[in-house]
Amino acid sequence: MRALVLNCPREPLRASAVPNPKPGPGEVLIRIRACAVCRTDLHIIDGELPGPKLPLVPGHEIIGVVAEKGQDAERFKIGDRVGVPWLGWTCGVCNYCRTGRENLCDQARFTGYSVNGGYAEFTVADQRFCFPIPEAYSDAEAAPLLCAGLIGYRSLLKTGEAKRLGIYGFGAAAHIITQVARFQGREVYAFTRQGDSEGQQFAKSLGAVWVGSSAALPPEQLDAAIIFAPVGGLVPLALKAVAKGGFVVCGGIHMSDLPAFPYELLWQERSVCSVANLTRRDGEEFFAVAPRVPVRTTVHTFPLTEVNEALHRLRSGRIEGAAVLIPA
Ligand SMILES: [Zn+2]
Ligand SMILES: [Zn+2]
Repeated sequence: MRALVLNCPREPLRASAVPNPKPGPGEVLIRIRACAVCRTDLHIIDGELPGPKLPLVPGHEIIGVVAEKGQDAERFKIGDRVGVPWLGWTCGVCNYCRTGRENLCDQARFTGYSVNGGYAEFTVADQRFCFPIPEAYSDAEAAPLLCAGLIGYRSLLKTGEAKRLGIYGFGAAAHIITQVARFQGREVYAFTRQGDSEGQQFAKSLGAVWVGSSAALPPEQLDAAIIFAPVGGLVPLALKAVAKGGFVVCGGIHMSDLPAFPYELLWQERSVCSVANLTRRDGEEFFAVAPRVPVRTTVHTFPLTEVNEALHRLRSGRIEGAAVLIPA
C-alpha cells in the first residue's frame, strides 16, 4: 500500500510503498477513506514531542471501512464505517484505567505516534477503540471529529457550567466546539492572532458573540477559557480575562513555555489545567451530541500525496477549519 512516512523528525514525509498491515487478535484492518491533519501531527513531525515510533505513519483522525477482521474481532462487520482516534490502546488494569481515567493510562498507545496511523491507504486498529460514525457525516466531514471534536469536547467538559466561554486559537477544535457550546446555551468569545480578520470572520459566522485579538480583554469577564493555540503566553492573558473562580483549560498536547506572571492573576480561586487525550466515554458522548447540534465541519481536502503542502499550510495558519487527506 501507499503510505506517507516520517523517517526522522524535522524532515518532510516520504511517499513510500509498504506492506499492508495485518490485523492481529481483536484488531480490524481498515481501508482508509479520509484522515484529518491535527496540530499534534505537526508537533510530532517537527520533533516537539519526544520518542515517536520511527519510521512512523502519522495521522489519528481516521475514517474508513472494515476490510478484514483479526481473530475474535466480532464487534464490526466487513464494510462497516468506523473512526479511529488518538487513543489506540490502554492496559485496562492500571490505577488510571480502573478509575475511569484511561486517557492517563501509563501504558497507553497513541495512533500515529506510538503505533502507525492514517496517512496511508490502510491501517489496523484495536476494535475496542474504534467508534461507529453517525450517518449524517460524509467521510471528509467526519474525520476532524475524531480529535478536534473529541479533545475539544473533553476541554469543554472541563469548563463545567461556564456560561461565558473564551476560546483562544480559532482552528479545527474551536470551530467544532463553538457549535456545541452554543447548542448548550453558552456564549463564545473568540480570540485570534492580532489582525487575523479571516479567522475572526470565521468565528463570527459560527456564532461567536465577540471576536478580538488574544491580547484584548472581552467586554465582559469570562467564566472559563479554553486555549487551543500552543502558545504559553496565552495563559496569563486568559487568566486576566476570566472572573473569580474561573477556569483556564489548556487543550493542546504541546505548548511553548509559560511566562512568569503575578500570583494576583491566579488568586481568587482561578484555576489552570490541561486536557490529555480522551476516554472512550468522551467519544460516545460526543458522537451522540454532534448530530443533534448538528455540528458541521469546514474541511479542505488534499490528496494523500500532498500531505506536506497540507502540513505547511496548517503550520502557517492558512487553513480555515480542518485539512483532510483523501487516499486516491
Ligand atoms: Zn492503563
Ligand atoms: Zn489530534
